[in-house]
Amino acid sequence: MHKKYLPLTLALAALLTVLAAAGLRAMTQAAPAISLAAEEKNIYLTFDDGPSTVVTGRVLDILKEEDVKATFFIVSDRVAGREEVLRRAAREGHTLGVHSVNHVYTQIYASEEAFLHDVEECAAVIERVAGVKARVYRFPGGGNAKRERYRALLRERGYRVISWNAVCGDEEIPNATAETLFRKSVETARGKQPVVLLLHDSAPHKQTAAALTDIIRYFKRNGYTFCRF
Ligand SMILES: [Zn+2]
Repeated sequence: MHKKYLPLTLALAALLTVLAAAGLRAMTQAAPAISLAAEEKNIYLTFDDGPSTVVTGRVLDILKEEDVKATFFIVSDRVAGREEVLRRAAREGHTLGVHSVNHVYTQIYASEEAFLHDVEECAAVIERVAGVKARVYRFPGGGNAKRERYRALLRERGYRVISWNAVCGDEEIPNATAETLFRKSVETARGKQPVVLLLHDSAPHKQTAAALTDIIRYFKRNGYTFCRF
């Protein structure tokens, strides 16, 4: 190479380096657009221990007003006299899952036979009354280590076991106000994806129904999609 072209070559090389770096930067800047899809925010509202007349009815009214679907884990002994509430939940597009016949742990977890009988009886009531085959299950009292052996039995029968990772506090905090339940929901949902929020729609939980509109609107405002199982 002729000496007089050397500076020009160096300048060209420098220019190419700058361009390459800019290209690389453009590529890395494009990356967030891709990961935006991965930053999906989903929330599952799950209601345990119903149906009840007043609370479940109010919860269904709010879900309808807000155009949101949820999942209800049913205690089948509480269905008698409230068949229409259960039918309404199914009709309005909510998922009905098995929780238990009567929520009495000593009976439910007495043996594998007792456990399966409990699951099947609850599912039979849901199917007879609301005409839907339950495919999701939630352990009464939660799915702790002692209950692991039951998980396989459920899986064999085609049930998906649903736990939770956020709570509104309606069982944990005595006499909680709607405001407290709202705050607890927001606080425990932070950083979770998806959020599976535990709420209760049995008779004592009027404050849960009272908090529900605020809870739904908060997650809507924050870009969450509402899902059901
Ligand atoms: Zn329960």
